[in-house]
Amino acid sequence: MSNIQGGCLCGAVRYEIEGAPMGVGVCYCRDCQYATGGAQNYVALFPRTAFRITKGEPRRFTSKADSGKNITRVFCADCGTPLYSDPADGPMLPVKVGGLDDPAAVTPGLALYTASAQPWHLRHEGIPSFEKMPGG
Ligand SMILES: [Zn+2]
Ligand SMILES: [Zn+2]
Repeated sequence: MSNIQGGCLCGAVRYEIEGAPMGVGVCYCRDCQYATGGAQNYVALFPRTAFRITKGEPRRFTSKADSGKNITRVFCADCGTPLYSDPADGPMLPVKVGGLDDPAAVTPGLALYTASAQPWHLRHEGIPSFEKMPGG
């Protein structure tokens, strides 16, 4: 299968991912609400080794995640598009679905941090749902 392509709104940052996502999640955590402007956040999980930036140099912002570990949010410094998260010592990169050239190619299969969802967030029916992370 051909590689997945994506990037930011202004085109300053482009990336390429090898292979299919290991899973696609919708995250309701408070941090994601900041990143999206209020909505839940859709991420496709890829092995770190499958992902590479092909153009530009995105900006990075690191904060403490709910797990207590550092998580770095990577975004375009020019247009502000959130691109992916880089969890400290995690083998997987959650890539924001909105930056994929074809977001329709993936479908959310897992809901995370539903305990932080706003009462007016629309929910997906029929997918496994976790108040925080699975198993944590
Ligand atoms: Zn941009
Ligand atoms: Zn989140």
